[in-house]
Amino acid sequence: MTDLHTPATEIQEQFDDQLDVTVDEIEERLETLVEEYKVPLSEARRSVVNTYLDDAGMDRDQLSGGGGNEHVDIAEVDAPEEWIDVTAKVVELWDATADAVAQVGLLGDETGTIKFTKWSKSDLPELEEGQVYELRNVVTDEYQGRFSVKLNRTTTIEAVDEEIEVGDDAVEVEGALVDIQSGSGLIKRCPEEDCTRVLQNGRCNEHGEVEGEFDLRIKGVLDDGEEVTEVIFDEEATEALTGISLAEGKEMAMDALDTTVVADEMRQKVLGRYYRVTGPTLGRYVLANEQERLDGPVDAEAMLIKARSI
Ligand SMILES: [Zn+2]
Repeated sequence: MTDLHTPATEIQEQFDDQLDVTVDEIEERLETLVEEYKVPLSEARRSVVNTYLDDAGMDRDQLSGGGGNEHVDIAEVDAPEEWIDVTAKVVELWDATADAVAQVGLLGDETGTIKFTKWSKSDLPELEEGQVYELRNVVTDEYQGRFSVKLNRTTTIEAVDEEIEVGDDAVEVEGALVDIQSGSGLIKRCPEEDCTRVLQNGRCNEHGEVEGEFDLRIKGVLDDGEEVTEVIFDEEATEALTGISLAEGKEMAMDALDTTVVADEMRQKVLGRYYRVTGPTLGRYVLANEQERLDGPVDAEAMLIKARSI
């Protein structure tokens, strides 16, 4: 027989503050649906939750994951749709671009930073830049490998009188630049607002054929002898690395009637050199904020071990 006691307990916790309903009652409802009507548990659960939402006059977004969320460090956020508590400082407030969003910005604690969104309809107090808050009942979200937290109607916000030294979640990698991947050099990006996707043959995945805007970047691979890391260098970093500016890149491409000459020239200049790169991670990439050329393998021993193993 399916275990209905656990889901019933979880549902009961979700409505603990709003409804006077016992675990047994909930379990009974679930049992009727699952045992008698052969409804899959997930559906039965949704149905029962909806019933109680109606009874309590609540919206689904007012539901919490139950009392006693885990209080987590920001760097620990690694999955979407988890209900958590955090103590964090408002590092930056950004301009909200949609009416549905009341405030958007960056929260930070000792372990790192994370984007937050506060919905207009959630009717929460204004957060102030530089203030530390205890935020209970926020939900994690993920977009393209980047995590964020959403403040909703059930979130409680309490200003706390403490100072937080916001840590930076940058990582440092070093090694030989062993490859420059396709999509490097002189590229074109979609000019649509907030898009900036790299065009493939003049087309944006989202917006179709567009007049692209030139940009420079390198998607490179650093090898430290033990593992490889993919690193993205933006225009500024690419120029620092290769000595080729965007204007020079465009000129080279025009002279050759071919944009690929730029990446070829870059390969000649930087492949095989050693670098130390610092920056935040995005998915499997490290985004180079700072890069420094090194004379040679930092960990010569690791390189030797690798050489022997080949
Ligand atoms: Zn686009």
